Amino acid sequence: MKQGMKIAVASGKGGTGKTTVAAALALSLTEAYLPSIREAPSLLAQPPLFLDCDVEAPNAHLFLNPDIRQEAPAVLLIPEVDETKCTYCGLCAQVCQYHAIAVVGKHVMVFPQLCHACGSCTLNCPENAIHEEPHSIGQLFRGQAAGEIDFAQGLLNVGEPMAVPVITQLKRWTGNPQNRVMILDSPPGASCPVVSTMQGADYVLLVTEPTPFGLHDLRLAVQVVEALHIPLGVVINRDGIGDERVETFCREHGLPVLMRIPFRREFAEAIARGQNLLEAAPERVGDFQEMFAAILDQIGWVPS
Ligand code: SF4
Ligand code: SF4
Repeated sequence: MKQGMKIAVASGKGGTGKTTVAAALALSLTEAYLPSIREAPSLLAQPPLFLDCDVEAPNAHLFLNPDIRQEAPAVLLIPEVDETKCTYCGLCAQVCQYHAIAVVGKHVMVFPQLCHACGSCTLNCPENAIHEEPHSIGQLFRGQAAGEIDFAQGLLNVGEPMAVPVITQLKRWTGNPQNRVMILDSPPGASCPVVSTMQGADYVLLVTEPTPFGLHDLRLAVQVVEALHIPLGVVINRDGIGDERVETFCREHGLPVLMRIPFRREFAEAIARGQNLLEAAPERVGDFQEMFAAILDQIGWVPS
Protein backbone atom coordinates (compact mmCIF):
# COMPACT_ATOMS: atom_id res chain seq x y z
CA MET A 1 0.00 0.00 0.00
CA LYS A 2 1.32 3.44 -0.87
CA GLN A 3 2.34 5.76 1.92
CA GLY A 4 0.13 8.71 2.57
CA MET A 5 1.14 12.29 2.11
CA LYS A 6 2.39 14.35 5.02
CA ILE A 7 2.09 18.13 4.87
CA ALA A 8 3.67 20.09 7.72
CA VAL A 9 2.24 23.57 8.23
CA ALA A 10 4.79 25.81 9.90
CA SER A 11 5.76 29.42 10.42
CA GLY A 12 8.93 30.98 11.69
CA LYS A 13 6.85 33.48 13.63
CA GLY A 14 4.09 32.85 16.12
CA GLY A 15 0.70 34.40 15.51
CA THR A 16 0.80 34.27 11.72
CA GLY A 17 -2.32 32.13 11.40
CA LYS A 18 -0.52 28.82 10.90
CA THR A 19 -3.10 26.79 12.81
CA THR A 20 -5.91 28.65 11.07
CA VAL A 21 -4.48 27.59 7.71
CA ALA A 22 -3.71 24.01 8.82
CA ALA A 23 -7.25 23.50 10.16
CA ALA A 24 -8.86 25.02 7.07
CA LEU A 25 -6.75 22.83 4.79
CA ALA A 26 -7.78 19.71 6.70
CA LEU A 27 -11.45 20.71 6.67
CA SER A 28 -11.36 21.47 2.95
CA LEU A 29 -10.35 17.85 2.31
CA THR A 30 -13.26 16.32 4.21
CA GLU A 31 -16.41 14.80 2.83
CA ALA A 32 -18.38 17.95 3.58
CA TYR A 33 -16.37 20.03 1.13
CA LEU A 34 -14.77 17.44 -1.08
CA PRO A 35 -16.94 16.57 -4.06
CA SER A 36 -15.10 18.98 -6.35
CA ILE A 37 -11.60 17.60 -5.82
CA ARG A 38 -10.85 14.05 -6.83
CA GLU A 39 -7.47 14.39 -8.51
CA ALA A 40 -5.93 12.02 -6.00
CA PRO A 41 -8.75 9.71 -5.01
CA SER A 42 -6.58 7.20 -3.21
CA LEU A 43 -5.29 9.94 -0.90
CA LEU A 44 -8.68 11.45 -0.28
CA ALA A 45 -10.71 8.29 0.07
CA GLN A 46 -10.21 8.53 3.82
CA PRO A 47 -10.53 11.64 5.98
CA PRO A 48 -7.32 13.50 6.76
CA LEU A 49 -5.30 12.82 9.86
CA PHE A 50 -4.50 16.04 11.75
CA LEU A 51 -1.67 16.19 14.27
CA ASP A 52 -1.27 19.21 16.53
CA CYS A 53 2.49 19.05 17.19
CA ASP A 54 2.60 22.42 18.97
CA VAL A 55 2.77 20.46 22.19
CA GLU A 56 3.71 23.41 24.40
CA ALA A 57 0.58 25.32 23.43
CA PRO A 58 -1.74 23.17 21.31
CA ASN A 59 -4.73 25.13 20.08
CA ALA A 60 -5.98 23.44 16.90
CA HIS A 61 -8.70 21.79 18.98
CA LEU A 62 -10.29 25.23 19.35
CA PHE A 63 -10.95 25.27 15.58
CA LEU A 64 -11.68 21.58 15.09
CA ASN A 65 -13.57 20.72 18.31
CA PRO A 66 -12.49 17.08 18.47
CA ASP A 67 -14.34 14.48 20.44
CA ILE A 68 -11.38 12.93 22.32
CA ARG A 69 -11.72 9.15 22.64
CA GLN A 70 -8.20 7.94 23.44
CA GLU A 71 -5.44 9.12 25.75
CA ALA A 72 -1.92 7.84 26.30
CA PRO A 73 0.97 9.06 28.41
CA ALA A 74 4.10 10.50 26.82
CA VAL A 75 7.03 9.19 28.81
CA LEU A 76 10.80 9.21 28.89
CA LEU A 77 12.69 6.21 30.24
CA ILE A 78 14.91 7.73 32.89
CA PRO A 79 17.77 5.81 34.53
CA GLU A 80 17.51 4.70 38.11
CA VAL A 81 20.59 3.47 39.92
CA ASP A 82 20.71 0.54 42.32
CA GLU A 83 23.44 1.75 44.62
CA THR A 84 23.78 -1.69 46.21
CA LYS A 85 25.36 -2.79 42.89
CA CYS A 86 27.11 0.47 42.00
CA THR A 87 30.89 0.74 42.43
CA TYR A 88 30.87 4.50 41.74
CA CYS A 89 33.22 4.01 38.80
CA GLY A 90 31.84 7.13 37.09
CA LEU A 91 31.45 5.56 33.64
CA CYS A 92 27.77 6.51 33.39
CA ALA A 93 28.63 10.19 33.93
CA GLN A 94 31.46 9.98 31.40
CA VAL A 95 29.25 8.61 28.61
CA CYS A 96 26.34 10.98 29.23
CA GLN A 97 26.42 13.75 26.62
CA TYR A 98 23.87 15.82 28.51
CA HIS A 99 25.34 15.99 32.02
CA ALA A 100 22.19 14.31 33.27
CA ILE A 101 23.90 11.87 35.60
CA ALA A 102 26.71 12.62 38.03
CA VAL A 103 28.74 10.55 40.45
CA VAL A 104 29.58 12.54 43.57
CA GLY A 105 31.61 10.57 46.07
CA LYS A 106 29.49 7.57 47.04
CA HIS A 107 26.31 8.84 45.43
CA VAL A 108 24.92 8.82 41.87
CA MET A 109 22.57 11.67 41.01
CA VAL A 110 20.20 11.66 38.01
CA PHE A 111 18.73 14.92 36.68
CA PRO A 112 15.55 13.85 34.84
CA GLN A 113 15.00 17.25 33.26
CA LEU A 114 18.37 17.04 31.48
CA CYS A 115 18.06 13.39 30.52
CA HIS A 116 17.35 12.60 26.84
CA ALA A 117 16.61 8.96 27.62
CA CYS A 118 19.33 7.83 25.23
CA GLY A 119 20.04 4.69 27.27
CA SER A 120 23.79 5.12 27.02
CA CYS A 121 24.45 5.04 30.77
CA THR A 122 22.39 1.86 31.17
CA LEU A 123 24.21 0.15 28.32
CA ASN A 124 27.63 1.12 29.59
CA CYS A 125 27.27 0.39 33.28
CA PRO A 126 29.68 -2.49 33.97
CA GLU A 127 27.73 -3.57 37.04
CA ASN A 128 24.24 -3.60 35.51
CA ALA A 129 23.34 -1.22 38.29
CA ILE A 130 21.07 0.96 36.13
CA HIS A 131 17.55 0.23 35.04
CA GLU A 132 15.06 2.60 33.41
CA GLU A 133 11.76 3.86 34.81
CA PRO A 134 9.08 5.71 32.87
CA HIS A 135 8.88 9.41 33.71
CA SER A 136 5.76 11.24 32.53
CA ILE A 137 6.48 14.29 30.38
CA GLY A 138 3.10 14.80 28.75
CA GLN A 139 -0.08 13.35 27.38
CA LEU A 140 -1.32 12.30 23.95
CA PHE A 141 -4.95 12.63 22.86
CA ARG A 142 -6.81 11.27 19.85
CA GLY A 143 -10.37 11.64 18.63
CA GLN A 144 -12.63 12.70 15.82
CA ALA A 145 -13.00 16.27 14.72
CA ALA A 146 -15.49 18.00 12.48
CA GLY A 147 -17.32 14.73 11.93
CA GLU A 148 -14.53 12.83 10.29
CA ILE A 149 -11.05 14.31 10.70
CA ASP A 150 -8.85 11.91 12.65
CA PHE A 151 -7.39 14.35 15.19
CA ALA A 152 -4.46 13.90 17.59
CA GLN A 153 -2.50 16.27 19.77
CA GLY A 154 0.31 16.14 22.29
CA LEU A 155 0.53 18.20 25.46
CA LEU A 156 3.81 18.73 27.28
CA ASN A 157 3.52 18.78 31.06
CA VAL A 158 3.99 22.21 32.61
CA GLY A 159 7.63 22.61 33.64
CA GLU A 160 8.96 19.86 31.37
CA PRO A 161 11.67 21.23 29.09
CA MET A 162 11.67 18.80 26.16
CA ALA A 163 8.94 19.05 23.55
CA VAL A 164 10.68 16.82 20.99
CA PRO A 165 10.02 13.46 22.69
CA VAL A 166 6.31 14.30 22.98
CA ILE A 167 6.19 15.17 19.27
CA THR A 168 8.10 12.01 18.37
CA GLN A 169 5.76 9.86 20.47
CA LEU A 170 2.69 11.57 19.02
CA LYS A 171 3.90 10.78 15.49
CA ARG A 172 4.75 7.20 16.44
CA TRP A 173 1.40 6.75 18.21
CA THR A 174 -0.62 7.78 15.20
CA GLY A 175 1.64 5.91 12.76
CA ASN A 176 2.39 6.59 9.13
CA PRO A 177 -0.66 7.52 7.10
CA GLN A 178 -1.49 4.93 4.47
CA ASN A 179 -3.19 6.31 1.39
CA ARG A 180 -4.37 9.39 3.21
CA VAL A 181 -3.31 12.93 3.93
CA MET A 182 -1.66 13.80 7.22
CA ILE A 183 -1.48 17.45 8.22
CA LEU A 184 1.03 18.31 10.93
CA ASP A 185 0.51 21.62 12.67
CA SER A 186 4.04 22.60 13.70
CA PRO A 187 5.12 24.69 16.67
CA PRO A 188 6.27 28.21 15.71
CA GLY A 189 9.95 29.02 15.42
CA ALA A 190 12.85 27.26 13.76
CA SER A 191 14.27 25.06 16.52
CA CYS A 192 14.29 21.35 17.40
CA PRO A 193 10.51 20.85 17.89
CA VAL A 194 9.92 22.34 14.43
CA VAL A 195 12.55 20.10 12.86
CA SER A 196 11.07 17.11 14.66
CA THR A 197 7.61 17.94 13.28
CA MET A 198 8.91 18.40 9.73
CA GLN A 199 11.06 15.27 9.65
CA GLY A 200 9.50 12.75 7.28
CA ALA A 201 7.12 15.31 5.74
CA ASP A 202 6.57 15.30 1.99
CA TYR A 203 5.89 19.01 1.92
CA VAL A 204 6.11 22.07 4.16
CA LEU A 205 3.68 24.94 3.93
CA LEU A 206 5.11 28.08 5.52
CA VAL A 207 2.57 30.62 6.71
CA THR A 208 3.80 34.18 7.00
CA GLU A 209 2.55 37.74 6.93
CA PRO A 210 3.76 40.67 4.82
CA THR A 211 5.59 42.52 7.58
CA PRO A 212 9.29 42.91 8.44
CA PHE A 213 8.77 40.44 11.30
CA GLY A 214 7.09 37.96 8.99
CA LEU A 215 9.92 38.26 6.47
CA HIS A 216 12.62 37.91 9.11
CA ASP A 217 11.14 34.70 10.49
CA LEU A 218 10.22 33.36 7.05
CA ARG A 219 13.91 33.54 6.09
CA LEU A 220 14.83 31.40 9.11
CA ALA A 221 12.06 28.90 8.46
CA VAL A 222 13.05 28.56 4.80
CA GLN A 223 16.63 27.78 5.86
CA VAL A 224 15.38 24.97 8.10
CA VAL A 225 13.15 23.46 5.41
CA GLU A 226 15.88 23.70 2.78
CA ALA A 227 18.35 22.00 5.12
CA LEU A 228 15.86 19.15 5.42
CA HIS A 229 15.50 19.01 1.59
CA ILE A 230 11.70 19.15 1.73
CA PRO A 231 9.75 20.97 -0.99
CA LEU A 232 7.95 24.03 0.32
CA GLY A 233 5.40 26.67 -0.52
CA VAL A 234 4.25 29.86 1.17
CA VAL A 235 0.90 31.20 2.33
CA ILE A 236 0.74 34.94 2.94
CA ASN A 237 -1.82 35.64 5.61
CA ARG A 238 -3.22 39.12 6.34
CA ASP A 239 -2.27 40.11 2.82
CA GLY A 240 -2.41 43.84 2.41
CA ILE A 241 -1.34 44.89 5.91
CA GLY A 242 2.33 45.46 5.06
CA ASP A 243 4.59 45.78 2.07
CA GLU A 244 5.85 43.75 -0.89
CA ARG A 245 9.07 42.47 0.64
CA VAL A 246 7.77 38.98 1.43
CA GLU A 247 6.51 38.64 -2.17
CA THR A 248 9.87 39.87 -3.48
CA PHE A 249 11.78 37.43 -1.24
CA CYS A 250 9.63 34.51 -2.44
CA ARG A 251 10.06 35.52 -6.09
CA GLU A 252 13.83 35.91 -5.76
CA HIS A 253 14.15 32.53 -4.02
CA GLY A 254 11.81 30.67 -6.34
CA LEU A 255 9.32 29.94 -3.55
CA PRO A 256 5.77 29.46 -4.80
CA VAL A 257 3.17 31.61 -3.06
CA LEU A 258 0.25 29.20 -3.02
CA MET A 259 -2.31 31.41 -1.32
CA ARG A 260 -2.86 34.96 -0.17
CA ILE A 261 -5.47 35.46 2.55
CA PRO A 262 -6.50 39.12 2.71
CA PHE A 263 -6.70 40.85 6.04
CA ARG A 264 -10.37 41.26 6.91
CA ARG A 265 -11.69 42.44 10.21
CA GLU A 266 -14.56 39.94 10.02
CA PHE A 267 -12.08 37.01 9.67
CA ALA A 268 -10.20 38.18 12.76
CA GLU A 269 -13.43 38.55 14.73
CA ALA A 270 -14.71 35.11 13.68
CA ILE A 271 -11.41 33.45 14.57
CA ALA A 272 -11.40 35.25 17.92
CA ARG A 273 -14.81 33.67 18.52
CA GLY A 274 -13.29 30.21 17.88
CA GLN A 275 -14.72 29.77 14.38
CA ASN A 276 -12.49 28.17 11.78
CA LEU A 277 -11.65 30.04 8.60
CA LEU A 278 -14.06 28.02 6.46
CA GLU A 279 -16.94 28.92 8.76
CA ALA A 280 -15.91 32.57 8.54
CA ALA A 281 -15.28 32.48 4.80
CA PRO A 282 -16.87 29.39 3.19
CA GLU A 283 -16.18 30.86 -0.24
CA ARG A 284 -12.47 30.11 0.31
CA VAL A 285 -12.90 26.31 0.34
CA GLY A 286 -12.00 26.08 -3.34
CA ASP A 287 -8.79 28.05 -2.71
CA PHE A 288 -7.66 25.49 -0.14
CA GLN A 289 -8.52 22.57 -2.41
CA GLU A 290 -6.67 24.22 -5.29
CA MET A 291 -3.71 24.78 -3.00
CA PHE A 292 -3.71 21.07 -2.17
CA ALA A 293 -3.82 20.22 -5.88
CA ALA A 294 -0.94 22.66 -6.49
CA ILE A 295 1.11 20.92 -3.77
CA LEU A 296 0.51 17.56 -5.44
CA ASP A 297 1.61 19.04 -8.77
CA GLN A 298 4.70 20.66 -7.24
CA ILE A 299 5.99 17.42 -5.76
CA GLY A 300 4.87 15.31 -8.71
CA TRP A 301 2.64 13.13 -6.56
CA VAL A 302 1.63 9.97 -8.38
CA PRO A 303 -1.61 8.42 -7.09
CA SER A 304 -1.27 4.74 -6.27
S1 SF4 B 1 28.44 3.15 35.60
FE1 SF4 B 1 27.21 1.86 36.96
S2 SF4 B 1 28.63 1.21 38.50
FE2 SF4 B 1 29.59 2.93 37.48
S3 SF4 B 1 28.97 4.70 38.71
FE3 SF4 B 1 27.48 4.50 37.10
S4 SF4 B 1 25.86 3.29 38.00
FE4 SF4 B 1 27.63 3.01 39.29
S1 SF4 C 1 19.84 8.02 29.52
FE1 SF4 C 1 21.33 9.16 28.29
S2 SF4 C 1 20.88 11.29 28.73
FE2 SF4 C 1 19.88 10.12 30.32
S3 SF4 C 1 21.36 10.06 31.97
FE3 SF4 C 1 21.70 8.21 30.75
S4 SF4 C 1 23.29 8.76 29.29
FE4 SF4 C 1 22.47 10.67 30.15
